[in-house]
Amino acid sequence: MDEEQRDMKAHKAYYQRVDFVSNSLQGIPQLCPCGSITKEIVDEEDTYDYLPGKRYFICKDFENDGLHYRQPWVIGVQEEVERLKLKVLRHENLLRECEALKVKKEKERMIPSYDPNDTEAGLKLLEDLTTNAEAIQEQVLHQILSQNCETQYLQAFLDGESDKNQQSFKNKVPVVNYDDIKPFIQRIADGESSDIVSSQPITELLTSSGTSAGKPKLMPSTAEELERKTFFYSMLVPVMNKYVNGLDEGKGMYLLFIKPEIKTHSGLMARPVLTSYYKSQHFRNRPFNKYNVYTSPDQTILCQDSKQSMYCQLLCGLVQRSHVLRVGAVFASAFLRAVKFLEDHYKELCADIRTGTVTSWITEPACRDSVLSVLQGPNQELADEIEAECAEKSWEGILRRLWPKAKYVEVIVTGSMAQYIPTLEFYSGGLPLVSTMYASSECYFGINLNPLCDPSDVSYTLLPNMAYFEFLPVDDKSHEEIHFASHSNTDDDDDDDALKEDLIVDLVNVEVGRYYEIVITTFTGLYRYRVGDILKVAGFHNKAPQFRFVQRRNVVLSIDTDKTSEEDLLNAVTQAKLNHLQKPSCPLLAEYTSYADTSSIPGHYVLFWELKPRHNNEPPELENKTMELCCSEVEDCLDYVYRRCRNKDKSIGPLEIRVVSLGTFDLLMDFCVSQGSSVNQYKTPRCVKPGGALEILDSRVIGRFFSQRVPQWQPLGLDS
Ligand code: AMP
Repeated sequence: MDEEQRDMKAHKAYYQRVDFVSNSLQGIPQLCPCGSITKEIVDEEDTYDYLPGKRYFICKDFENDGLHYRQPWVIGVQEEVERLKLKVLRHENLLRECEALKVKKEKERMIPSYDPNDTEAGLKLLEDLTTNAEAIQEQVLHQILSQNCETQYLQAFLDGESDKNQQSFKNKVPVVNYDDIKPFIQRIADGESSDIVSSQPITELLTSSGTSAGKPKLMPSTAEELERKTFFYSMLVPVMNKYVNGLDEGKGMYLLFIKPEIKTHSGLMARPVLTSYYKSQHFRNRPFNKYNVYTSPDQTILCQDSKQSMYCQLLCGLVQRSHVLRVGAVFASAFLRAVKFLEDHYKELCADIRTGTVTSWITEPACRDSVLSVLQGPNQELADEIEAECAEKSWEGILRRLWPKAKYVEVIVTGSMAQYIPTLEFYSGGLPLVSTMYASSECYFGINLNPLCDPSDVSYTLLPNMAYFEFLPVDDKSHEEIHFASHSNTDDDDDDDALKEDLIVDLVNVEVGRYYEIVITTFTGLYRYRVGDILKVAGFHNKAPQFRFVQRRNVVLSIDTDKTSEEDLLNAVTQAKLNHLQKPSCPLLAEYTSYADTSSIPGHYVLFWELKPRHNNEPPELENKTMELCCSEVEDCLDYVYRRCRNKDKSIGPLEIRVVSLGTFDLLMDFCVSQGSSVNQYKTPRCVKPGGALEILDSRVIGRFFSQRVPQWQPLGLDS
């Protein structure tokens, strides 16, 4: 019996070992289960080594009893390769995960996440960002350079790895204007790879309201940039909550619009920055946040037809008037356009509220449906109340009367928008005008940490995680006249250029009271790019400077988002002169200046012309037709954004020429000299603001002419 059991056990052990050997026999066997090492043998008779069975990995003490390794060479190698491939793949995945984690961590540091419902956390985050401004700026630059040092653009200046530090970046990478980088951006628009300027894919081009050769500048953008913008917007929430209580108990009536967009030849989208944001998932699928509940359904904001969009948004804002705690738009000009639209359409709007229907010319189905669901049936009483307010003779304080719970008007009223402050004050009935943020297509810059301050005291605190910021000092007194040479200037300017670049300072080193032009290096492929905005340092919040917006470099006229420079104006006036004032019977254009007239909505450009007869000193004979053609010619020659505002957005009215009597510009000079201009260096101002100069000009007008047609405009062509 014992023997039988022993036998059975031995058999069991035998079969287990056979089983083990056959199961474990794979790859290149190192040690046989018998304890001997395996070796590689070659069948000397047969030198073909590719047939299984001719070469073996075999146990040194091999016996053909199934208890030793004997692995055909080809199979062993094949299996080993498979095993190693799997191992490499696992390691590769691991490395990728590590890299992704690193990027995510870096990103979280750059774009911190926070719950906008948590005001305390938001304010604490702002304190951290502003306190650590210097370190964050260093990290931002480091990250931008780490990500992008292999791009064609940066490789031309930096030598890869070793050059990621701040100083060599500043020594080697030039400060540039748009024209310097335009060829790179054009190549991306034409379909070349994003890595010309950015390691992250360029997902769209943002059409700036600044123009180059008459067309909007195109700014590269990435998917990640939308996250940065979302973070930026979320930072506005705790700031408003700090100053205004109960914003979570009602809604905001914000009139927001999208603008036309086009696809480049390569399929990239080109559109204005806000259109890009409103159409993104970040806006459309925004997580619910009780401080950001709007009266406008998204469908009305995203409506391509701006008139239908405006009507529907106003209708929704009026219907929900008892819930509205704040009203606004992005820029003051857009908000005032809405007020004017309301003035023109209030009867129709009230009729819709009364009957609970939407007027027939709202044809966009998404708009109609979303508005109908807000209307929720007829409301005679509400319609009567609104109509009674609107029918009042004066619209002074209309905003307060229509939206009695509104606590402020949120619109940007700094920079060129400051011209709208008096009109807004008239309509708002004492509601504070709040400019919350300073941003551009290139990058979002900063927020106003004291939002209820007087519009003239607004300053923006730059958020140090948005981009890497540098500042070119500008002459404190004559900051209107800035002559910084750009990278693309002539050789003569090179020394001057280098000198100016030497003076460039970092964000935390700007001085209070000084004027600077902002220069940015972004996560999206702009390196040391001059934005063109002149800022004045008003103070610091912790270590982060606060800037007043002073002016846009070279811009003399602006009504809406248009930005017309002295040069644009000169070219347009010259063209009108050449085409319409050449006949001997026509007078000569002796002098001109301009004025942005915003006394009516929409505002319009006014040119003051002093015309001199060719042969005598009699007042010139002014032919209506000729002067009107001059008005239209000037408009035709102004840039893309002006013509879009005029033709598509209808945010600018027909251009006007006011002819002034002979000698008016001499009086203007006397006035300017009496105000401190030097007689020797006197140059006719090409633009005047309200005040003494305008009064002189206006008091001597002998003829007024308006453009009789809308200038041509077509959505952007990207082929030049
Ligand atoms: P865009 O590139 O078309 O988005 O226009 C951006 C420009 O608008 C900036 O560079 C500024 O010149 C101007 N801008 C933006 N925000 C403000 C602001 N809060 N105050 C004054 N100007 C502003």
